Amino acid sequence: MPENKVRPIGPTVLGYPRIGPRRELKRALERYWSGATSAGDLQAVAAGLRRDTWRELSDAGLGSVPSGTFSFYDQVLDAARTAGAVPERFTALGLDPLDELFAMARGWDGVPALELTKFFDTNYHYLVPEVAPQTRFALRDRKPLDEFVEALAAGVRTRPVLVGPVTFLLLAKPAPGSPAGFAPLELLDPLLDVYAELLAELAAAGAEWVQLDEPAFAADRSPAELDALRRAYARLGGLAQRPALLVAGYFGDLGPALPVLVEAPVEAIALDLVAGAADADAAAALPGLRDKTVLAGLVDGRNVWRTDLDDALARAATLLGTAGRVEIATSCSLLHVPYDLDAEGGLDPALRERLAFARQKVGEVVLLSRALREGREVVAAGFAASAAGRASGARDDRVRARLDALGPDHYRRAPAPDRAGVQRRQLALPPLPTTTIGSFPQTASIRADRAAHRAGHLDDAEYDRRMRAEIERVVRLQEDIGLDVLVHGEPERNDMVQYFAEHLDGFATTELGWVQSYGSRCVRPPILHGDVSRPEPITVGWSRFAQSLTDRPVKAMLTGPVTILAWSFVRTDQPLGDTARQVGLALRDEVHDLESAGLRIVQVDEPALRELLPLRATDRPAYLDWAVDAFRIVVGGAADSTQVHTHLCYSEFGDVIGAIDALDADVTTVEAARSKMEVLADLGPGVPRALGPGVYDVHSPQVPDTREIRALIAAAQEWVDASRLWVNPDCGLKTRGEAETTAALRNLVTAARAARGD
Ligand code: GLN
Ligand code: ZN
Repeated sequence: MPENKVRPIGPTVLGYPRIGPRRELKRALERYWSGATSAGDLQAVAAGLRRDTWRELSDAGLGSVPSGTFSFYDQVLDAARTAGAVPERFTALGLDPLDELFAMARGWDGVPALELTKFFDTNYHYLVPEVAPQTRFALRDRKPLDEFVEALAAGVRTRPVLVGPVTFLLLAKPAPGSPAGFAPLELLDPLLDVYAELLAELAAAGAEWVQLDEPAFAADRSPAELDALRRAYARLGGLAQRPALLVAGYFGDLGPALPVLVEAPVEAIALDLVAGAADADAAAALPGLRDKTVLAGLVDGRNVWRTDLDDALARAATLLGTAGRVEIATSCSLLHVPYDLDAEGGLDPALRERLAFARQKVGEVVLLSRALREGREVVAAGFAASAAGRASGARDDRVRARLDALGPDHYRRAPAPDRAGVQRRQLALPPLPTTTIGSFPQTASIRADRAAHRAGHLDDAEYDRRMRAEIERVVRLQEDIGLDVLVHGEPERNDMVQYFAEHLDGFATTELGWVQSYGSRCVRPPILHGDVSRPEPITVGWSRFAQSLTDRPVKAMLTGPVTILAWSFVRTDQPLGDTARQVGLALRDEVHDLESAGLRIVQVDEPALRELLPLRATDRPAYLDWAVDAFRIVVGGAADSTQVHTHLCYSEFGDVIGAIDALDADVTTVEAARSKMEVLADLGPGVPRALGPGVYDVHSPQVPDTREIRALIAAAQEWVDASRLWVNPDCGLKTRGEAETTAALRNLVTAARAARGD
């Protein structure tokens, strides 16, 4: 591939949202799945969205427009289909390609879907490819080519974007039944054959550049994995017929993978200079970079703030001396931010000035590129507007003074055994106490009431009456089932983070700020933009009401600071830890008011504690420090007699076990049913207080029978003494049906009573 024939790539974005500015794809998918429309209708919506995106990006002045970033469900699934990694249970169905894709994503007639899991440290979820020693890769689905050709016909010569081969295999898992010790990476060579064929076809179709995404190298990687990267790009770079290659690393610095890529025979490397700023310095020391184009990812693809253009320009200019050519780019795909700020009517103007969504970020890339090529004067007006929008978040000196005044004593509760004694006397619970994780099934009528209230069709008084009726129903139900610690059921919460964001100062919520979570599912993360405080109690009224209905203890429910940050767009003008502490302080006030209202148990949910864990091990201790700190601010002022629960949702604790212990919660509930209590091998010795490993898998509609639950309780007792064991489901029940939930909870109570010997 002679260097002088490569056309410069120009300013670009690594990817773009695809769900549609008004979630058109979501609606079209759901209509098709429900049988209301044909595949042709769905394809037409998809083609329209692709064409609009290519036109918009091309008209905006980007030098290179990506294609293949559209997906009916997930780009990793698309890559699996392109490479022919389709497990036999799906091909055996004999479906047409579109339905086969949906079968892999969502299951089909009892055939289970691929596993869905988080994409690195984002809130996007991908489908995990299954690879076995007998997997025969082959160029099976020609989506990358089809979309390139489609875009060309629409007048845009795009840059196809593919999941890189090494990241693909690192994201895959051994198919069930693979021999022990088999690693998908062993199949790199046959997979490269498919990529080689695809690259040749793309070149023949007229593609000048292809982007290969290798974000797996923003995490710690073994020497063997780095060697796989080296081999992969030596092979692909050495092909006789191929487009110019851009390898993109993002979500952090490439670290030791950077020199590997710089030495590889590829034409360009994209660096995430937002999450991986260290790469800029590291790159400067690599002479090989003089032969390469560097895409400087200076516009944040994962957050909603305007770029500091002067700072970005200075950093791009520094790279000029190091790289053969420098182009401006986003740090990663814009998939992770909403479409268009201009579509938001209700935002405070001062906040709006500080924001940039996908469309505005494209503008920033173009502007920065002009400044770099033609000089800052040419785009001075754009820079001035951007500077004006870089005000920092609203400051609340009261919040800051209160945080400064918190000393170690304000964080530390009495020793856990002393608290346990006081709580035992106060709460008088039986051994193996039974409880739930918080939410009860959200019926259609609850959702309708919430929506009507939000839209102004249901006045406050009537809304309040209906929610109270629901709380009363759920409390009576729990009494009837015989649970020991009750909950109010969370009917008033649309979402465990958005609910708190709507009631705290320092947050804003959007109308159309949807971001794809997986498939057709989208979320609207709140924007945490200023100092956080709690203007008035949030949950106290509902919890107090629930407690007034019963003599049994009611557990109040709060979402913890780490989870609130993890599922929001968070200000970057101060360290995350400082922001987390502010959220912690607001929740601390809530705990205090709950105690005053007579609640004796408070649960602080932190399902995102592990999610937010940095990709590189060296960054983890600092994160865990502030995460634990923020949690302890929430509960550190609670009376000894107040029992603090936390719920962590997942079931693998390896790296975070020390941090979970440091949360110092009186009771920790986790997911454990599917793993048959294996989690207790770590957790049992690591957290020497009470534990509630889930005995009922809430992800399945199946009602566990009493014997099954008893067996799980017995298995738990192998690890943890009965005196510190709780009996509860794996997680909240809000997505479950009512009848199955009631039946399952009845069995849970029967099993716990049997285990007690009642
Ligand atoms: N209390 C929440 C609920 O029950 C916890 C949800 C979660 O763990 N994700 O819904
Ligand atoms: Zn959970």
